[in-house]
Amino acid sequence: MTFIDLRDRYGITQLTFNMEENAVLCEKARGLGREFVLWVKGKVIERSNKNQNIPTGEIELEVQELEILNASKTPPFTIENESDGGEELRMKYRYLDLRRNPVQEKILLRSRLAQEVRSYMTAVDFIEVETPYLIKSTPEGARDFVVPSRMNEGEFYALPQSPQTFKQLLMVGGYDKYFQIVKCFRDEDLRADRQPEFTQIDCEMSFVDQEDVLQTFEALMKHLFQEIKGVTLPDFLRMTYADAMQKYGSDKPDVRFGMEFNELNDLAQGHGFKVFDEAELVIGICAKGSASYSRKQLDALTDFVRKPQIGAKGLVYVKLNEDGSIKSSIDKFYSPEQLQSWGDKMGAEKGDLLLIISGETNHSRSVLNELRLHMGTELGLRKKDEFAPLWVVDFPLFEADEETGAYHAMHHPFTSPNDEDILKLDENPLAVRANAYDMVINGVELGGGSIRISNRAMQNKMLGLLGFSEEEAKAQFGFLMDAFEYGAPPHGGIAFGFDRICALFGGTESIRDYIAFPKNNAGRDVMIDAPAKLYDAQLEELNIQMKDLS
Ligand code: ASP
Repeated sequence: MTFIDLRDRYGITQLTFNMEENAVLCEKARGLGREFVLWVKGKVIERSNKNQNIPTGEIELEVQELEILNASKTPPFTIENESDGGEELRMKYRYLDLRRNPVQEKILLRSRLAQEVRSYMTAVDFIEVETPYLIKSTPEGARDFVVPSRMNEGEFYALPQSPQTFKQLLMVGGYDKYFQIVKCFRDEDLRADRQPEFTQIDCEMSFVDQEDVLQTFEALMKHLFQEIKGVTLPDFLRMTYADAMQKYGSDKPDVRFGMEFNELNDLAQGHGFKVFDEAELVIGICAKGSASYSRKQLDALTDFVRKPQIGAKGLVYVKLNEDGSIKSSIDKFYSPEQLQSWGDKMGAEKGDLLLIISGETNHSRSVLNELRLHMGTELGLRKKDEFAPLWVVDFPLFEADEETGAYHAMHHPFTSPNDEDILKLDENPLAVRANAYDMVINGVELGGGSIRISNRAMQNKMLGLLGFSEEEAKAQFGFLMDAFEYGAPPHGGIAFGFDRICALFGGTESIRDYIAFPKNNAGRDVMIDAPAKLYDAQLEELNIQMKDLS
């Protein structure tokens, strides 16, 4: 007998060839190689030794006719669940990688999610509208990818960083509920797991306030979890940006576990420990049951926070031992009673470990955020099958550039200020809260949006605060401000990172796995070898002169 595994999209079917019954056919089968494309005809029969692990494991095909539709070279890596091919090689032969089960599952998941989004959104009266890709810059805080125009010499289109202005114009156009599953393009500096082109579920609604938007899209996410994962999500927590930063040091906190921050300035300062005395903020977390951490484990935590990308100078620990004794890295400066009072403030019990960071406020918070997540992972508190959704609300409207002090829009320039804060726009813009919100699940920012400005004067003021002159504002966004003068309804919306949603649902981290043809970390498609140079004739046609790079 000869056995062959025949694979298609639906799984593997075992083919059997019987030497005694058909020696010629059997010989032919023995000459087949991996990944050959076959046509077979035969009889489906019950398998004697069944394989319960695969859906087709109870049957096999007794082959009577066999045709080779196409031969195959030996693939450069094994096409199995665990491949021996490295990332770069698999990307070069992505069409082979796509044949592997784990990849196929992710692509199928993506398709099901897209399908479910479409059917849900359509059922609640949203319409899908396509917006153009060849446009003028829409700022979302990244650089634009640009496309030269042959017919308009010296002029360029920008690829959309999002359909933001178009979806707002659709609202002015009277299409009160819009969505689109759409590609966005952002030319950002290379960071792990960013794709220069990625997909959003982009949505906008008219005659709504923030509450309407949150309700609508909380319902969408609950629906997706129910339908695709069979998980009933709880009602989403709501947390202000200020609270998120103070308690978790992050605007996308993972609230699957507690370990909230505690500020210790009042207890820790004024006792002769210079590092704390000179710090703007002394802040700590309590790791339950971790007083048993060894010297080595504590050193590893210190090394962790000292990594350049995290950037702390050091880490202070206090062990509240099971036997009631207290051991810390700052015993010289504080009595056990004092350290106990820190533990009390932090709700710590015997057996717990306090981890403390100090320094400039924002930096300390960001360091402790990393450490909290690290500890959460180390202590197994970030469970894969647990989902903790929340809305982060009341984002600031502006943030100040660290170097120049100039104001940037924290979300984007079309976000409206909170009504209560409008008076502060002139004297204290940084204190103005925006009608902006993010949806966060398990520490992943899945989407964000805002209630928009829908009035010319306010949009103009906003652009002014962002440093646009009257003329610049008009040149760039005149079309939008003009539209606001022709009966623009109040409107707002949100956009979700579709690739991220796929990754969250699939339970793995890299969004790249969920994209059929992704780019690598250098923004290259190594399969088709893009980007690439243009021919001289093309450059000439576009009237582009290249700098001599030799
Ligand atoms: N255009 C925004 C973004 O891409 C989302 C929104 O405000 O709806 O983040």
